[in-house]
Amino acid sequence: MNDRLSRTASSMRRSLPYLALFATLPLATLAQSPAPTPPQTHYAPAPAFDTASIDKSADPCNDFYKFSCGNFTANNPIPSDQGGVDQFYTLYNVNTQELNGILQKYAAADPSRTPNQQKIGDYYAACMNTAEIDRKGLTPIQPLLDKINAVDLDGLLSLSGELQRLNVSVFFGFGEQQDFKDSSKQVATFDQGGLGLPERDYYTRTGDKDKQIRAQYVDHIAKMLTLAGETPADAKRDAAGILAFETKLAEASMTNTDRRDPDAVYHPQSLTTFEQSVGNIHFAPFFEAVHSPRVDSIINGNPKFFPAMVAAVQDTDMNTIHAYLRFHLLSAYAGQLPHDLDAESFDFYGRKLNGTPAQLPRWKRCSGAVDGALGEALGQVYVEQYFAGDSKAKTLEMVHDIEAAMDKDIDTLDWMSPATRIRAKEKLHGVADKIGYPDHWRDYSKLTVSPTDALGDVQRAAAFENDRQLNKIGQPVDKNEWGMTPPTVNAYYNPSMNDINFPAGILQPAFYDPKTDLAVNYGHIGAVIGHELTHGFDDEGKKFDAKGNLSDWWTADDTTKFQAKTGCLVNEYGSFVAVPGATAADDVHVNGQLTLGENTADNGGLVLAYIAYLDRAKKEGLDTHKKIDGYTGPQRFYIAFAQNWCENSRPESVRAQVLTDPHSPDHFRANGAIVNQPGFATAFGCAKGTPMVPASNCRVW
Ligand SMILES: [Zn+2]
Repeated sequence: MNDRLSRTASSMRRSLPYLALFATLPLATLAQSPAPTPPQTHYAPAPAFDTASIDKSADPCNDFYKFSCGNFTANNPIPSDQGGVDQFYTLYNVNTQELNGILQKYAAADPSRTPNQQKIGDYYAACMNTAEIDRKGLTPIQPLLDKINAVDLDGLLSLSGELQRLNVSVFFGFGEQQDFKDSSKQVATFDQGGLGLPERDYYTRTGDKDKQIRAQYVDHIAKMLTLAGETPADAKRDAAGILAFETKLAEASMTNTDRRDPDAVYHPQSLTTFEQSVGNIHFAPFFEAVHSPRVDSIINGNPKFFPAMVAAVQDTDMNTIHAYLRFHLLSAYAGQLPHDLDAESFDFYGRKLNGTPAQLPRWKRCSGAVDGALGEALGQVYVEQYFAGDSKAKTLEMVHDIEAAMDKDIDTLDWMSPATRIRAKEKLHGVADKIGYPDHWRDYSKLTVSPTDALGDVQRAAAFENDRQLNKIGQPVDKNEWGMTPPTVNAYYNPSMNDINFPAGILQPAFYDPKTDLAVNYGHIGAVIGHELTHGFDDEGKKFDAKGNLSDWWTADDTTKFQAKTGCLVNEYGSFVAVPGATAADDVHVNGQLTLGENTADNGGLVLAYIAYLDRAKKEGLDTHKKIDGYTGPQRFYIAFAQNWCENSRPESVRAQVLTDPHSPDHFRANGAIVNQPGFATAFGCAKGTPMVPASNCRVW
């Protein structure tokens, strides 16, 4: 259920590591701080063109990242509550500070608040009140703990539906999605799930680091269960049983890389066939408990998973199953439970897994929590105050420029046949552009929010969102819907909608600055726009047509040529060492296959943004040779692009990213794309054969 959009939508960057972390544990790191303190630091936006990060002693032809971002690390130390810092983090701080200002204003019990103002203010106030959370202890989840401890095999499906409705991910995934092969339909989806570690390979990989993480995970489970009242000896036994149980689920799960292929996760079945595949277990009690409409057909994301999952449940003693459910309940709500549980959850998921020494301050976590629960109520106020006048019109103009650039680019591709070219243009012209915020705001009138019940608020918000999603099953698609909230510093392409989406939160300095020059804006946000548009034509996006249906519109010959071109990118990025080991055998490389879609989007997006920049400059009669801060327009364009990816990161954080995330680590996204850019050599006067202008390079779009 956590995966509804992210399953197919490709976003600009990974989910913000400082916010939330794993699909299965959306609030696991949303946790405690000593006292509810308002923000102490004032966060200023980064300059649109960051001359302070440029290392003039570096040769741009030799290492363009070092040239553009060489001084970033020295100027941007990593705060103790971060796995790393970059431009996204800087803007996240600015946006979160603005959200917090809004929330503090509405947190006071003022009778003149509108219903939405009351909800966002009270949600924030309850979240900030850690004294009240500590005072209540486990009481708010005791009814669920009692149900878990009493459940038998027959009652398990119903209880798992009840827990999933509250965003406690147990056993498997269930949700709603647009039917890949008929995007006008919204259908029910069953999928693999039920893990507490980030993904299946964490259970199966060998090597000292992985063994250590699994040992730490077992310790963590035992500590959580002990804090919830078990004796240490019982908790230790249960924790070992839980790892063994989850390992069986993991062994039946597909890898992240395999799951990037939409055909691999699309298996329509009748409900009868699905139920037969798991020994004629009837799912009616689950549908009822999770508040899903009754369906007679489903999409199965991984048919091999379900019989193995059922066998694993049947082969595991009920005490272990109870402990498994208790642990996942405690994890899901750690941020609204007493300090010790919250701190323990962070210690594992934040500190051990991600290398982050300290938790985010409570005000940031609570601002993020309101954004997660009531994102369009908070977002409406945010865009009124912070999404300035003509930002939407200006962004739309850039989007149109970049779409026109792609139109031109498709005409010039020497490898594509006329038949595929026609279909590619049809798809391009079918892309819908969504800028800033939705045309219609979500109705939260049925969601109750209390200023003193943090855990209840989170549960009610989870159930509200669950029901909103599942109510779509069988209903027409709402093309106005957004998969990200307005203040989000990110963007995405959704292949089923065939739309590109740019929240107001990223249309801010440094990514977009109405006061800077054209080259810089096209290098920053223009490359982001090009990135999302190119997702429609990466190895995953190419499988969906103009209407968002999974259908092969390519000639076989064109697909073969496309795969040869993307294979070049797989090799290029796969050669990058993200975390050097003691010996070459221990090096952690970027996974060229897992990151292929994102890398294709980065490379194509930058090509398109550059074409669009030159065309727009010509239209406006700008002299691109004129220097600003000592750099020509094309130079400023490429530096601005590379500076999207200036970063300073902890190795543990980079390691976790490389193992789980389809995005390459930031700094590889700069040089990884630069070496393939046709305009770069001229802009910086680099000779062919220099490291940034290799004799042979990769080009897809
Ligand atoms: Zn992307």
